[in-house]
Amino acid sequence: MRVTRVHVDLALIDGDEVTLPEAARAHLARVLRLREGDACVLFNGDGRDWPARITSVGKREVRVRLGRPVAVDRESPLSITVVQGVARGEKMDLVLQKATELGVSGIVPVFSERSEVKLDDARTAKRLAHWRSVVGSACEQSGRGRVPAVSAPSDLAAGLANLEPGGMRLLLDPDGPLSFGGMEAPDDRAFVLAVGPEGGWSPRDRAQLAAAGFCGVRLGPRILRTETAALAAVSALQARFGDLSG
Ligand code: SAM
Repeated sequence: MRVTRVHVDLALIDGDEVTLPEAARAHLARVLRLREGDACVLFNGDGRDWPARITSVGKREVRVRLGRPVAVDRESPLSITVVQGVARGEKMDLVLQKATELGVSGIVPVFSERSEVKLDDARTAKRLAHWRSVVGSACEQSGRGRVPAVSAPSDLAAGLANLEPGGMRLLLDPDGPLSFGGMEAPDDRAFVLAVGPEGGWSPRDRAQLAAAGFCGVRLGPRILRTETAALAAVSALQARFGDLSG
């Protein structure tokens, strides 16, 4: 039987006994009903899996003893960052979950002129915590040892200003001049994909993206929903230059 992997936001040290954070405790003890002596694997995003054994299961606390870590390498040879116009609830979750499975390195949620989703500060903080847990769970399931960064949602200008320099910057646009089939990978094998929200990019968004070095790329002749466009573009890059066909 496959041993359960659990993402924890903890410093992990060989041989230590640690108390699991609440979400991990609830998952192992309440959902999976694991007991003292059962095995699990912890990871914190540092690229290693930590075999562990449960040492105690209490009402409010589960403790585990860590074994020797093993390096896991399931990362893509590409660095793919998705600048995603914030989409409605489940669509956004779908993009985060599937993009993580497909091997992206980061997701930058942005509010743009035609965003249909508006969040106040409290809801933004809650949503960000939720998105990060979606990404952590997708890493648990897909075996990734590195957890893609999810930035705090911001307006488009701030999201673009905070991007790492470099990479091929691609604005997903049904009328874009580039195609995935016709492009060459940049030397740094880094890509940044900008995907519009449900209402698409406005002329002002497009001007900001162009000023930040983004060039339009199309995904075939049909108009795709935002979540389809994001996942199709990541898949196209991984199939052409990354590890999807390996
Ligand atoms: N009517 C909207 C418009 O005028 O942009 C459609 C928006 S579409 C539902 C959401 C986003 O998906 C677009 O902003 C674009 O980034 C991306 N997209 C959809 N179809 C695409 C295609 N065929 N090629 C490239 N990007 C596409």
